[in-house]
Amino acid sequence: MDLHLLGWDAHWRELFTPYVSQSLLPGRIVVEHRDAYRIETEPGVRPGALAGRLRHLAERRSDLPAVGDFVGVRLPERDAGDGPAIVEAVLPRRTAFVRRAAGGRPDDQVIAANIDTVFVMTGLDHDFNVRRTERYLAAVWESGASPVVLLNKADLCQDVEHKVAELQSVAIGVDVHALSALTADGVDALAGYLRPGVTVGFVGSSGVGKSTLLNRLLGRAVQATAGVRTHDSRGRHTTTHRELFVLPQGGLVIDTPGMREFALSDADEGLDAVFADLDALAVYCRFADCAHRVEPGCAVRGAVERGEISADRVASYEKLLKELRYEESRGDQGAAAERKRQGRIGAKAIRRMKRDG
Ligand code: GDP
Ligand code: ZN
Repeated sequence: MDLHLLGWDAHWRELFTPYVSQSLLPGRIVVEHRDAYRIETEPGVRPGALAGRLRHLAERRSDLPAVGDFVGVRLPERDAGDGPAIVEAVLPRRTAFVRRAAGGRPDDQVIAANIDTVFVMTGLDHDFNVRRTERYLAAVWESGASPVVLLNKADLCQDVEHKVAELQSVAIGVDVHALSALTADGVDALAGYLRPGVTVGFVGSSGVGKSTLLNRLLGRAVQATAGVRTHDSRGRHTTTHRELFVLPQGGLVIDTPGMREFALSDADEGLDAVFADLDALAVYCRFADCAHRVEPGCAVRGAVERGEISADRVASYEKLLKELRYEESRGDQGAAAERKRQGRIGAKAIRRMKRDG
């Protein structure tokens, strides 16, 4: 395969210069599955494996290659048959989606590399959520890629223009498109982003229409959509054989489970529930506006002192409180009220437990 079709250009050729003399060939990772890879090279697509040296030199997990990475590989000798291409070098990334590990930087993991543009999808049905979309936008900017907001399922919505305007007011400087992946209405507007050599990724909740859109762009069903999606014995989606696709018109798409789920831990609702117990404790602080720092009669600090909760958790909780105050100060009442509601539910549950227990 001509690597230019996969985004290889003067920028990458320049970065690759030092490896030419080591007889390495350039390639791009099209599938990553644990430590096994599929790598597209000029002579063809190959299974890939990491050079021991690369593994040893990697100080952080994020130094190891991910889908989308351009790499330097050594192919097996002609008579050694079709053994794996050995990855000897990873070229510096233009962009990277990084899953932050609880254990800190050494365990941070790159989910996908060198994505130029990310379609942030939200549904114009019940999925529509401005705040979650904002979170996605922040995550995309952090990766170095540029976001484009796609409001899918326009065919199900009566006030499309109103919703577009609502998102445009928070996504300053970001293109917002309404479309229907199902009927193809509005999909033509994406042509400008799907240029040869440009790599696009998708993020958005499950069911928003990512597979439907990808299949439509590819003109064939590579990704099983909900309903016909198969699961393995553990109930997970079965993995596809490929995670980086070349569109008929030349654009590139990276679609991996990791990208799909990216930022969900932050963007979705689950987070608040994690702190429901601390929220409940805070109800017993002497002062209603207790910041759990120096105030007398602070129930949260009391629990830390008794060793009932860790100081780390309280620090994370404080961060959440700060976000809550920020949201309130910006007038994002919906988001703030939702967090409070969950806190109150937590408090009630605890009081009930104390009474019944
Ligand atoms: P994914 O989980 O994001 O990949 O979502 P899917 O592509 O599997 O779509 C989930 C469901 O939404 C499927 O039943 C699709 O047919 C449906 N769907 C996707 N796009 C549209 C759309 O534009 N309009 C309507 N009405 N349904 C859609
Ligand atoms: Zn307190």
